[in-house]
Amino acid sequence: MSEESKNQRHKERQQAIKKNIDAKVAAATKEQGILMVLTGNGKGKSTGGFGTVLRCVGHDQKAGVVQFIKGKWPCGERNVLEKLGVRFHVMGTGFTWNTQDRELDTKAAQDAWSQAKEMLQDPSLDLVLLDEITYMVTYKYLDVEEVVDALKNRPPMQHVIVSGRACHRAITDIADTISEVQPIKHAFEAGVKARIGFDY
Ligand code: ATP
Ligand code: MG
Repeated sequence: MSEESKNQRHKERQQAIKKNIDAKVAAATKEQGILMVLTGNGKGKSTGGFGTVLRCVGHDQKAGVVQFIKGKWPCGERNVLEKLGVRFHVMGTGFTWNTQDRELDTKAAQDAWSQAKEMLQDPSLDLVLLDEITYMVTYKYLDVEEVVDALKNRPPMQHVIVSGRACHRAITDIADTISEVQPIKHAFEAGVKARIGFDY
């Protein structure tokens, strides 16, 4: 094939793609808050959530974050986002496999959930990140129906991100966008320690 016909074919393909994309853009006319679920066993769910918080704040919008689980490490994102005016609540107990105390965990989860509920009723918040809330539902520290109700009844323009492994079906059923992060490889499996500034 000559260079000229290769160029012509490329142009035609790109024109077809553009026509398709333009039609989809024209059809996307709704404006609403989006409920996004970031789940799966691969690395990148919390980072994806925090990246979106940064995007929101970068447009002078308001965001709130509730982290439903916390290890012994300080959270790098919190250090910077609080300085930028992001409302932040961290459930204080640590990983549930460390506390091994169901009552203590349930109380901490309920406290964090009451902060989350406030955020989900606050129309001044453009985005709410509920990081690792999926575990609270799995362990039944939170009632899934109550979580679903609060998500459904939030301000209509508010975006919410739910992140964590094994998201409950009742939440994925009402989500608008769902991404599942697949683990192909993880350095930890090869014996590499979690690194400050990269893993937390
Ligand atoms: P990150 O916070 O890095 O975006 P994540 O939110 O997707 O990760 P979590 O399940 O919340 O993943 O796990 C948090 C921690 O566990 C992070 O330090 C991360 O590097 C590590 N991690 C995530 N996925 C895996 C995996 N498949 N194997 C081992 N460690 C993992
Ligand atoms: Mg995470």
